[in-house]
Amino acid sequence: MIEESNPAEDSIRHFAAQASAFKSHKKARDAAFKAWRTMRARELEIASRGVPRLDKFNKDAYLVPEGVSFSTYRTSSPLVKTSKLTSKENGGVGKELSDGWVANYATGCTHGCKFCYVDAIHKKFGQKRVGSIVYDDWGDYFAIPSNLDEVIENTKWKRWSGTEVMLSSTHDPYLPQVNKYTRKILEKALPEGVKFCIQTRNPLVERDMELISQYRDQVRLQVSIASMNEDLSRAIEPRVVKPERRLQILEKAREHGLNTGVIIAPVFPELKIRPHVYADIKAIASRLETFRPDHIYGESLHLRGINIAYVEDALGQAVNIDGFDKKAEEWFHKALSCYNLKGIWWKEF
Ligand code: SF4
Repeated sequence: MIEESNPAEDSIRHFAAQASAFKSHKKARDAAFKAWRTMRARELEIASRGVPRLDKFNKDAYLVPEGVSFSTYRTSSPLVKTSKLTSKENGGVGKELSDGWVANYATGCTHGCKFCYVDAIHKKFGQKRVGSIVYDDWGDYFAIPSNLDEVIENTKWKRWSGTEVMLSSTHDPYLPQVNKYTRKILEKALPEGVKFCIQTRNPLVERDMELISQYRDQVRLQVSIASMNEDLSRAIEPRVVKPERRLQILEKAREHGLNTGVIIAPVFPELKIRPHVYADIKAIASRLETFRPDHIYGESLHLRGINIAYVEDALGQAVNIDGFDKKAEEWFHKALSCYNLKGIWWKEF
């Protein structure tokens, strides 16, 4: 059962959209906190009415944790859709993450990284598809297509033969709720010649390495690392394995002869919990030197939707990113060059 929209939800959507639209960091930050405070008030108001928050329908079957609002929706075939996460030469935003194609098959990501850019999309467009759960905190809502098996079956995978498709751009493809579907996609699409850029923070991908390694020319496996500082990682990625464990995924991938990549992102400015940014990037570079991934990218923290409110709440301090992108880019290249590594920096746009 999906709750009806209410004025608080309209305000959250409005402020979250404003936060994404403002070029001024101060205005974006103010709008983000207005949305965030409205979300807190909405929670209290719903609790005071005793409205059940969770849709229990088949929730257990989807391994959705307690406290996470859940819904289902229907998606359409083909599962592969266009994506702008590609190079500017191919008409994208400048990120080399696919040949312009992506497969997303969940709304929400239970990893709930505080800085994630995806919540902004769902707060703006998600209600029509999955209901008012999108006005909950990022990481605390999750929806999956009820017809996903059917759509995977009906997708004519051969159409993307020789083309790189990203798995995935709006959720981790190895969440416990979706990893069996990811396996099914790989089993169907790899024999048809489809190439994949798999982007994950979850070691569950290791269960598929034997399969993937049979198609090693078609797959690159990438993880993201924001910091080697475990306290910072725990604060901003509380439901994800430690950075070192993520790097071990890539070492295993290397042993299987797979193409690997690391996205050093998002790089945070100076913080009480981790004061020395350059030393942190250098610690990541030093670790990468031990297995030399095929691709290295970097990106600083950007404001998207209300992510700055989640981040500052988690860190207990204000985070100032004004002018930080340029400095972080310089440190990224300098740190990599210390270990004879090269990478591509994705500038704020
Ligand atoms: S794993 Fe990726 S999609 Fe999921 S919350 Fe973290 S950054 Fe967002």
